[in-house]
Amino acid sequence: MVIVGGGSAGWLTAGVLAAAHGANPATGIGITLVESPDVMPIGVGEGTWPSMRDTLRKMGLSESEFITRCDASFKQGSRFARWVTGADDDYYYHPFVAPAGFGQVDVAALWHARYRDRRFADVASYQPQLCELGRAPKQPATPEFAAVANYAYHLDAGKFGQYLQRFCTGQLGVRHVLDHVQGVSPAGNGDIAAVRTAEHGLVAGDLFVDCTGSAALLLGQHYKIPLVSRRDTLFCDTALALQVPYASDDSPIASHTVSTAQTAGWIWDIGLPTRRGVGHVYSSRHTTDETAEQVLRTYVEATGGSPDHAGTPRRIAFDPGHRATFWHRNCVAVGLAAGFLEPLEASALALIELSAAMISDDLPATRELMDVAARRFNERFRYRWERIIEFLKLHYLLSRRSDSGFWIDNRREDTVPARLLELMELWRYRAPSRRDFYEIEEIFPAASYQYVLYGMGFRPEALACNGGPDDQARAEGLVRESAALGRKYLAGLPAHRALIDHVRSRGLPAI
Ligand SMILES: Cc1cc2nc3c(=O)[nH]c(=O)nc-3n(C[C@H](O)[C@H](O)[C@H](O)COP(=O)(O)OP(=O)(O)OC[C@H]3O[C@@H](n4cnc5c(N)ncnc54)[C@H](O)[C@@H]3O)c2cc1C
Repeated sequence: MVIVGGGSAGWLTAGVLAAAHGANPATGIGITLVESPDVMPIGVGEGTWPSMRDTLRKMGLSESEFITRCDASFKQGSRFARWVTGADDDYYYHPFVAPAGFGQVDVAALWHARYRDRRFADVASYQPQLCELGRAPKQPATPEFAAVANYAYHLDAGKFGQYLQRFCTGQLGVRHVLDHVQGVSPAGNGDIAAVRTAEHGLVAGDLFVDCTGSAALLLGQHYKIPLVSRRDTLFCDTALALQVPYASDDSPIASHTVSTAQTAGWIWDIGLPTRRGVGHVYSSRHTTDETAEQVLRTYVEATGGSPDHAGTPRRIAFDPGHRATFWHRNCVAVGLAAGFLEPLEASALALIELSAAMISDDLPATRELMDVAARRFNERFRYRWERIIEFLKLHYLLSRRSDSGFWIDNRREDTVPARLLELMELWRYRAPSRRDFYEIEEIFPAASYQYVLYGMGFRPEALACNGGPDDQARAEGLVRESAALGRKYLAGLPAHRALIDHVRSRGLPAI
C-alpha cells in the first residue's frame, strides 16, 4: 500500500493500518508513505473527538508520551458563546458526556416538563460544571486512555504529525520516503500502478491512499473527481489562525474548546499547555480580511492575551465541500484530499479516523474485492458528509442573531438541507433519537443534537415521555444521580493544568 502525504491524515492512516495488519510485506502488508519535502502539512487542526483515544490506544501509543510530545491537553466538549442572541450571558455547552440515561429514558422530556428554565446541558450532564470550574476529566491515578468524564484532546497539529511519523516508522514498520510526487504511472486497466517521484523513481503499490491535502493529487488531479462545493449551505471559507502566549506559566487551561460567534463567523479558542490556539473562521462574502483580523485581535485582547505577542495571523482559504466520490478504482482519499468543512465541531480528524478504520476493516484481499470495498466506502462516507453538513448548519439555523447579513442569510430556507428541515418539524413534538441517526458510528449522535437544539433555545411544542409516568420517575432519579456524580467529581478531580503538569512530569499509569 502507498500513502501519499504526511500530514495528520497520512500518518493516522498509516498508523491505524500498520497496527491492525502489520507493516511488513513478509507477514502483513507493506506500507510506504511518500511525503513531499517541499509542501508543508497544513499545521492546524487542534481539536479532536473522543474517538481519538481509541485510535491512539489501538496504535499502541503511550497516552502520557503523546500528551507530552504533542503539547496536548484534555477536551471535554465545546462552549458556544454568543451564538443565539450575541448577548454577554448567551452560552451553552455541547459536552462529551451523553445526557443521563441516554437511550434508555428521555431526560429531554423531563427537562422540558420540569426544568425548562435551566440550561438543558446543566440538567442532563455534570460535565459543563467540570468545564466551568476548570477541572480535568480524570485523576492522576486513572490509567492511560481511561476516563472519569468522557474526553478527547487538544493538540499541537505540527507536533502530532512529527510524533506519529516517529512512532509509525520506529515502532510499526512503516517505510517513509521523503520525496515529491511528480505524477502517476497508470496501469493498463486504469488503476494507478505507481507514483513517480523526483529522487526515488517509481513507487508501486496495489492500493493508493491520497492524503495530499487540498491538492488531492491522485483523486482530484489524476482521476479528475470533482469537489462538490457546499458553500451555499455553509458560508465560512477563510480562517485566520494565531498562537497566543499565556499571561503566566500557571494560567488555567480550559478543558473545552471555546467557540465565540462573531458578526461574520466565529472564533475558536483552544488551550494547550504552553499557549492558546485562536482563530477566526469567517465568510469572505460577508466581511473583509482586514475586518476579520481586527475582530480576532479585539477578541485576543478581551480574553487576556496580548495581540502584539501573538504575531501575524496565518490566512487559510478553503472551499467548503467534499469529493463527489472518495474511493475510485485503487485510490481512496482521506483527510483534506477528501474534502473540508469549517472546523466548528472538530469533525475532520474524526472523519480521518473513521476512514482509516474502514479501509483497514475492508482491506481488499483481491482486485475484485477492491470495487466492493470502494462501493461500501463511498456509500458510508456520502452519508457521513451529509450528516456533518446538517449538524453544522443546525448551529446557524437556530441562531436568532440579526446583526449582520451573515446570520440572516444563514437562516434562509433555501440554504438549509431538506432533511434537516424535516427533522426540525419532527423535533417540535419529540426529542432527537437514535432512530434519526441509525449508524453505529455516527459522528454526531442524537445526544449531540439534543445539546445543540435545546442549548440554542429551541423549545418544542410538546415532548412526549415515551415510557409514561414510570419513565419520568426514572429520569428524575437519573438526573439526581448525575448531579450527585457532579458533586463527587468536583471534589475529587484536579485542576486541568495540575493534571497536565502531572502527566508531563510523572505520567499516567500505563494500561
Ligand atoms: C483553519 C482550520 C482549522 C482546523 N481545525 C480542525 C480541528 O480543530 N479539528 C479537526 O479535526 N480538524 C481541523 N482541521 C482540519 C485538519 O487540519 C485536517 O483535517 C488535518 O490536518 C489533515 O490534513 P491532511 O493530512 O489531509 O493534509 P495536510 O496537512 O495538508 O498534508 C498534506 C500532505 O501531503 C503532502 N503532499 C502534498 N503534495 C505532495 C506531492 N506532490 N508529493 C508528495 N507529498 C505531497 C504534503 O507534504 C503533506 O505532507 C482544520 C483545518 C483548517 C483549515
